[in-house]
Amino acid sequence: MSALSPKVWFVGAGPGDPELITVKGRDLIGRAGAILYTGSLVAHSALQWAPKDCVCCDSKAMTQPQMVQWLIAQAQRQVTVVRLQTGDPSLYGALIELVQPLEHAGIAVEVVPGVSSAFAAAASAVETLTLPEITQTVIFTRLAGRTPVPPTEHLAALARHHCSVCLFLSVQFTDTLSQIFIAAGWAETAPVLMVHKASWPGEERIIRATLKTLHAQAQAAQLSGQTMIIISPTLSARHGPPPPLSRLYAADFAHGFRPAPTTLHE
Ligand code: SAH
Repeated sequence: MSALSPKVWFVGAGPGDPELITVKGRDLIGRAGAILYTGSLVAHSALQWAPKDCVCCDSKAMTQPQMVQWLIAQAQRQVTVVRLQTGDPSLYGALIELVQPLEHAGIAVEVVPGVSSAFAAAASAVETLTLPEITQTVIFTRLAGRTPVPPTEHLAALARHHCSVCLFLSVQFTDTLSQIFIAAGWAETAPVLMVHKASWPGEERIIRATLKTLHAQAQAAQLSGQTMIIISPTLSARHGPPPPLSRLYAADFAHGFRPAPTTLHE
């Protein structure tokens, strides 16, 4: 990249643990001249790699036009400008709202992915979101809040797939959530995972519930915004019977990195 072409890097900071940022993201922070970070969600500790003279600004109280203006002004200083976002920037990150005006202003953009909180939550609880013969599909969704959800994606319809469902931005709707899944044919005893502040050192809470107890447990734990809810037929597979082996590791299955055993013995 030419030092003269103004550019803004949208960097996924990961779910909270500062070690869960990518090497590329950390290197960009390490040479940043300006960082606009979502202070409400991103661990401040991700800023520890920023140079001493880096201008770090919390976007929490800023409006979209103020953020655009700030990013343009910093990019015009010819420094490395980073927009640091929680998790992965492609999920509920208002990415395009910022990308469009920047590109209209002649500023290049590039995105560095991050570990989404959906994956951090699954990892913390040692859960898989796909399991052979159980489900091979994952839905990332939310219940409508201030941002509406298109009618074709209403949770009642999605729940009927009986696959893994990761719910962002929905902890305040646990009551509705249970009702929708039960109405879609899930058992009241179906397991639900809630992970609050997944991966945040010393602050993470893993709560296991069922569709029936979900609301009461969420209330009792006083869970706030930073909670991932996962409803999936794969939950707790670790404690169940051994699952059917994935075809990838089956002895008779050859692939690019491993010939089938018959070939091996020839
Ligand atoms: N881009 C982010 C999501 C931003 S929307 C990502 O990829 O994770 C904010 C929502 O993400 C929160 O309401 C919560 O549901 C979830 N979230 C973000 N960080 C979290 C964390 N550390 N633990 C659990 N949920 C989290």
